Amino acid sequence: MHELSMADAMIKTVIEVAEKNDAQEITEVSIELGEMTLLNPEQLKFMIEVLSEDTLLEGAEIIIETIPLEIKCQSCGYSGKTSSDELDHYAPIINCPECESMELEIITGRECNVKSIKIEKSDENAQDS
Ligand SMILES: [Zn+2]
Repeated sequence: MHELSMADAMIKTVIEVAEKNDAQEITEVSIELGEMTLLNPEQLKFMIEVLSEDTLLEGAEIIIETIPLEIKCQSCGYSGKTSSDELDHYAPIINCPECESMELEIITGRECNVKSIKIEKSDENAQDS
């Protein structure tokens, strides 16, 4: 269950940032998720929603942006997108679309980051307990 541990880690990060910024509530979280992570965005979103119950994050809008896989070929110098048809299983084989070399540098597609969060700050007049 990759999604579960990822969701858990992301929630911790988001809540930590929110608390440092005196957030009263988190309204929106944007996440970048690379294709190469093989995580299911819907599943990740669902996990985050479930795990954020009773936290500052509860009720926040979760936006997941999928980052396509882009590679750079070490053999022929091709760089760009490659077919991600092979990425549906857990042992993806990626070849250069030009020369079929497997010596590739992955440029994008491994992202799994919290990109931004939106928070509601507490009212300046609110009492500090
Ligand atoms: Zn190549």
